[in-house]
Amino acid sequence: MTEVIDGNAVAADIRDGLTDAIERLADAGSRPGLATVLMSDDAASETYVSMKQRDCEEVGITSHHVEIPPDAPAAELFDTVADLNEEADVNGILVQMPVPDHVDKRRVLRAIDPAKDVDGFHPENVGRMVAGNARFKPCTPHGIQKLLERHEVATEGAEAVVVGRSDIVGKPMANLLIQKAPLGNATTTVCHSRTEDLAAHTREADILVAAAGVPEMIDGSMIKPGATVIDVGINRVDADTGKGYELIGDVEYESAAEQADAITPVPGGVGPMTRAMLLYNTVKAAGEQAGVAVDL
Ligand code: NDP
Repeated sequence: MTEVIDGNAVAADIRDGLTDAIERLADAGSRPGLATVLMSDDAASETYVSMKQRDCEEVGITSHHVEIPPDAPAAELFDTVADLNEEADVNGILVQMPVPDHVDKRRVLRAIDPAKDVDGFHPENVGRMVAGNARFKPCTPHGIQKLLERHEVATEGAEAVVVGRSDIVGKPMANLLIQKAPLGNATTTVCHSRTEDLAAHTREADILVAAAGVPEMIDGSMIKPGATVIDVGINRVDADTGKGYELIGDVEYESAAEQADAITPVPGGVGPMTRAMLLYNTVKAAGEQAGVAVDL
């Protein structure tokens, strides 16, 4: 019987653990705070930010929010980030991507104080992760690590294949899988749009992470029997639903589930874990600043 890896359940468990840590922080006179900065009028970005604010409120993290008109000068965003870097009650800062074209995205990532960079995208934090000394692991790959851990999927010695090489998912995922630390030690292949014969690679995978953003591009014929399949993709496709669309993954679920031993659904797999790990990084940042250890 194929095991469905329930991201909502694992994320709820992680949030419960954070509630304990937040109580310990309160005893030490600290309440974690996350600042979100939105410089966009894109509906999806607005939804993501409001979901993050709601998540914070639910676990007892103070949510600070700054909106900057998308046509404002880039300096307004950099000044905002500089102010937030100095705010004692802001432990984590997240600038919602994408930012407008006239703003240098890489400069935004560098502007955030690395100690408050709860996305884990500042070059210093990327470097630390690559060196095996991560301060904040990027939320999506870290969430996947936690899903694998909680479902007792051994990474050590496993053949892992990651489809996608983005800075936010594919590259850090591959990096975590090859680390010597616990939850790593996998023999890892990274595939991308120039990979020849993708299926030849995916069929070798004991652990397959699909993060390409192409609806249902991986079907059962591309999956090794007994594999663990992690579907990161969130693709909005037109459908005859009340909303006029549905969300589907990069994996064709029905045929993949026939081959896999364990599989994440979309929605309800990786997505809730990404959200939970942002909360975790924020509480961890507050803990570091208050001298209270926070771990999962
Ligand atoms: P990007 O578009 O930044 O990267 C996609 C990657 O997939 C690229 O490296 C690209 O290759 C590769 N790719 C695209 N098409 C193919 C193909 N046909 N065969 C092999 N590789 C291919 O996307 P993200 O990494 O940001 O996101 C990926 C998916 O995950 C999206 O659906 C996104 O919505 C979702 N997502 C979900 C999250 C969650 O919490 N569940 C969080 C973040 C993202 P190349 O580099 O050559 O162009």
